[in-house]
Amino acid sequence: MMRALYWFREDLRLLDNPALTAMAQKADEAVFVFVIPSGPEWSQGEERMGDHRRRFMLESLADLDRELRGIGQQLRVLQGNPVECVLQTAKEWNCQAVFSQRCHTGEETQSAESISTMIPHHVVEGSTLVHPEDLPFAVEDLPEIFSRFRNKVEKRGLDIRPEFPIPKLPPPPQGMESTPFDPDGLQRLAGLPEDTMCFEGGALTGWKRLQHYFWGTHSLSSYKQTRNGMLGWDYSSKFSPWLAWGCMSPRSIYHAIRRYEEEEGSNESTYWLIFELLWRDYFRFVAMQHGNRIWHATGLKESARNPVSHHPLQWKAWCTGTTRSPFVNANMHELRLTGFMSNRGRQNVASYAIHDLGLDWRACAEWFEHWLIDFDPCSNTGNWLYVGGIGYDPRPQRKFDVDWQAERYDADGAYQSHWNRLGGIFPLDPDAVP
Ligand SMILES: Cc1cc2nc3c(=O)[nH]c(=O)nc-3n(C[C@H](O)[C@H](O)[C@H](O)COP(=O)(O)OP(=O)(O)OC[C@H]3O[C@@H](n4cnc5c(N)ncnc54)[C@H](O)[C@@H]3O)c2cc1C
Repeated sequence: MMRALYWFREDLRLLDNPALTAMAQKADEAVFVFVIPSGPEWSQGEERMGDHRRRFMLESLADLDRELRGIGQQLRVLQGNPVECVLQTAKEWNCQAVFSQRCHTGEETQSAESISTMIPHHVVEGSTLVHPEDLPFAVEDLPEIFSRFRNKVEKRGLDIRPEFPIPKLPPPPQGMESTPFDPDGLQRLAGLPEDTMCFEGGALTGWKRLQHYFWGTHSLSSYKQTRNGMLGWDYSSKFSPWLAWGCMSPRSIYHAIRRYEEEEGSNESTYWLIFELLWRDYFRFVAMQHGNRIWHATGLKESARNPVSHHPLQWKAWCTGTTRSPFVNANMHELRLTGFMSNRGRQNVASYAIHDLGLDWRACAEWFEHWLIDFDPCSNTGNWLYVGGIGYDPRPQRKFDVDWQAERYDADGAYQSHWNRLGGIFPLDPDAVP
């Protein structure tokens, strides 16, 4: 008789979850756990998480618990040091092994290793589109330019593994009872216009979003033309929050794109969403290759490209959306009020912070970490390094002319007037900026 503990981490889903499937194949009974970490060292910890991300996480956990209860299981949501909570629960319930999905950054990897020293811990890959073992090179030999990576990966056609169906899960140990996870504090910011984007966590809402974006509106078929938009729901997929929390896997999205192509036809746009998922993979492989080096002030380079002054007034202006650029300000207000910002916006505010204001990219990346619902340590850091010219990139500078960008991508000024007006109604107190 084998009793296992399954530790949910960045994989809040049952579908296409290889670690969960591995556990289900081995265990006769199982205990399911998620730990909300206490302490500033954890990116999933409440101290580093703003309200938007926290709400999305709690909704995702409630959805996962509901799904588990529907098949006779349950989720235990704990709070504390993740290593201690997992080991203590494993001991309390006499579990012989722990299973979890592999994470690829600092504290997350270390905590998995600490658990492995105390109890058999099966850590299984499951967060990328291309399985690391299917790369045509070793991760240490990752090409230093994205297009070279993509060409190599696509050389013989993308061969993506099939998705894992939801496994038949073992029951909980006898006598284990807990009340359904029903978190408090899920209020949204009151007073924003009705049509303001508001993401709701959980696999169910993620799949509804996909259904809407693919078959509901056919927006996927014009993604390549609209993806640089800034206002509204459908200029891009908005899958990032569900991907970051693992409510949906990139592989499931990939196979849904292929189904859509078979039914509705393929074009450059349907391919382009896969292309963007490869960007996501790329930054994950960069993190696997370089470990903690990705947090270094000079990134993957020997020296910084720009002088870093990190003047406190410039820093506060950037955070509060009171810089000289109305375009940057509008984006910073959107981030703070919704937990989201378009890719176009992110590139511009990042470039402005690094190249115009001389801010330290690490502080800016932490600001993103706090506010973004879709915060992902690999994608966030990878993109900041990229814009700063200190990651993998053939170009030494990625400086955007924000005025030119505003004219090009917000020609009628609708985006700027919308978010600058709301930023004025809901200002951020400069004293609240760290
Ligand atoms: C400075 C900066 C910081 C960023 N931080 C994050 C972050 O913390 N988390 C995050 O998920 N993305 C981050 N991005 C990447 C990108 O902006 C978002 O993934 C995208 O805006 C999310 O919207 P979407 O889901 O509608 O994207 P879509 O355009 O619909 O793309 C589909 C998916 O592809 C992936 N993707 C697209 N562009 C990128 C990219 N440049 N890098 C990595 N993956 C990409 C995402 O998973 C996204 O959900 C950052 C970009 C910049 C410039």
